[in-house]
Amino acid sequence: MERDYNLEKRKYVIGGAVIVIVLVYLIRLFALQIMSDDYKKNADSNALLNKIQYPSRGGIYDRNGKLLVYNQPSYDITVVPNEIKDLDTLDFCKTLNITPEFLRKRFGEIKDRRINPGYSRYTNQVLMTQLSAEECGVFQEKLFKFPGFYIQRRSIRQYNYGSSAHVLGDIAEVSKADIANDDYYKRGDFIGKQGVEKSYETQLRGVKGVEILLRDARGRIQGKYMNGKYDKTPVPGKNLTLGIDIELQMLAERLMQNKIGSIVAIDPQTGEILCMVSTPTFDPRMMVGRQRGKNHLSLIRDSWKPLLNRSIMGVYPPGSTFKTSQALTFLQEGIINTHTQYPCYHGFVHAGLRVGCHSHPSPLSVIPSIETSCNSFFCWGLYHMMGNKRKYGSVQNAMSTWRDYMVSMGFGYNLALICRERREV
Ligand SMILES: [Zn+2]
Repeated sequence: MERDYNLEKRKYVIGGAVIVIVLVYLIRLFALQIMSDDYKKNADSNALLNKIQYPSRGGIYDRNGKLLVYNQPSYDITVVPNEIKDLDTLDFCKTLNITPEFLRKRFGEIKDRRINPGYSRYTNQVLMTQLSAEECGVFQEKLFKFPGFYIQRRSIRQYNYGSSAHVLGDIAEVSKADIANDDYYKRGDFIGKQGVEKSYETQLRGVKGVEILLRDARGRIQGKYMNGKYDKTPVPGKNLTLGIDIELQMLAERLMQNKIGSIVAIDPQTGEILCMVSTPTFDPRMMVGRQRGKNHLSLIRDSWKPLLNRSIMGVYPPGSTFKTSQALTFLQEGIINTHTQYPCYHGFVHAGLRVGCHSHPSPLSVIPSIETSCNSFFCWGLYHMMGNKRKYGSVQNAMSTWRDYMVSMGFGYNLALICRERREV
């Protein structure tokens, strides 16, 4: 009786197992054939063409909302090498105003995997970049004669003011290193190379989209793949507002004309940079479009080094910023008033101390002392502060008061550290 029961039970177990196995197969089949469409399998095949949709790069504004940098349409010519058929090289070159040598060279570069590691004859390769609307218009009309070639709409930077070149920086085609460092970039993409274009690259660039097109057996575009279900709309880059005041910036550039050096104006309340000028400078519009390479080279070769951003790369002694902090301390502590005058005869000589100075009228009060950067005036001020026993009791106390003033104005410590502490407090 018990044996019968076991047999009966086994029948159900085996039957159940068979049903489970069949179900698993059915689900798997369903998943493969219905749920998972061919997109993933075909993503790299020649049945689909992934057309990248470039987002518009964010604009750059000054502190008063004046537009400094915006986009202007430009066009790239791309090619899917496998689709080229009976190319009339001469006609092609004439249409694009290039030489057959240039075309041969570009094809050589495209196929060279050392330069272009992502090369595939089935995918879109960049042949030429930054064509103007006029240049591209002629090509567009004859595009039907050149199968395998495509026009890719992009944008290049344009500038409302021929100013602030060092601050704004520029964008240029990605290098091999840029591609290696960040998966986002493909050959022919643009990236911020200098200035705020570089510092805020990830915010400005936005997110690329993609349009997936379906091709027939002959490679002709049949339309959108699955009605654009897998297309991704590009996300435009964010706009950027700078601390710079463009009017002030242009004034500073005018003042520095034909001079070598730098002016940086910082709002002490916030640390915002109101203007940042490095001269000699250049017009940022020179670094745009197909002339960029030529202009860049001539700027590199310029012996006055216009590409050097002296505001951040030049080494200048801090000079007499210290004197203004001394003046404020002495005034605040009542050691001097605005009329107090101190003598200077080419320097300060007192109590065994000697500090030289340059020639200027003497004696001077505080404002002309700052104007002439007189060393004596500030030595005398300090001497009278240190010696004021009535006020401070001892030189030590005077010294420590003086030091507190200096530290409060950012001297003696790493400024970034002080700012962070102040924020935390
Ligand atoms: Zn002096």
